[in-house]
Amino acid sequence: MTDVERRVALEAIAAEVRVCTNCRLHETRTKAVPGEGDPETEVVFVGEGPGFNEDRQGRPFVGRAGDLLVKLLAHIGWRREDVFITNVVKCRPPDNRDPQADEIAACAPFLRRQLDVLDPAVVVTLGRYSMGTFMPGARISQAHGTVRPVDPATGAASALVFAMYHPAAALRTPAIERESYADIAAVPAALIDARRRRDAAAQTPPEPEATDLRPPIPDENRLTTEPAVAPDPAAVASPTDEPAPQLTLF
Ligand code: URA
Repeated sequence: MTDVERRVALEAIAAEVRVCTNCRLHETRTKAVPGEGDPETEVVFVGEGPGFNEDRQGRPFVGRAGDLLVKLLAHIGWRREDVFITNVVKCRPPDNRDPQADEIAACAPFLRRQLDVLDPAVVVTLGRYSMGTFMPGARISQAHGTVRPVDPATGAASALVFAMYHPAAALRTPAIERESYADIAAVPAALIDARRRRDAAAQTPPEPEATDLRPPIPDENRLTTEPAVAPDPAAVASPTDEPAPQLTLF
């Protein structure tokens, strides 16, 4: 997918999010918050749901939690424009309550489609509800700062997920804020690991899907008598031919 195609696909999803009425959260929202960032990024941050300021502006992480996220990113030399930032629910839960399971389920196709378009190498989850989508059953107190492969059913076809505490939790508890700085310092290494895995997967020829047990067709019965020509490996495009957009790591 080209850069332009990605932008168009992401904007099409955002346009659907802005008019979505699939769950009760649309009744109380001011603006839906589809997400924003670099369409060519390798890293997607997924929070829980918009808060007061996000609901007013239609942009993710623009309040105090967003300020902390920007500081955490700066700690590793990244800017919010370098990554893509979105949430598991795109409309603000009233009074900032936790998103409910049916609301998360109603919104899940949007996140899945965003991840399918972005094809990130790393998904960073912010908080329990986001982590629940990518590391089902994990406990944040144990899983934060850890990494595991993402289930492709989430939309991210070949990614690692890295769990972090929610920045709002870090704002409330200094010990969690300290842990969050330690956790984010490990994200660049997770990205390097993810790139290595993707490169290795791109070089491994896929398993043949099934063995063809039918008898060979005699030459005279073939639709074409052209001899089969093996493709020239140099002429076959592979995902690794395209220079990967590089985030500055340090
Ligand atoms: N908290 C979230 O989880 N997401 C936002 O966009 C803002 C605050």
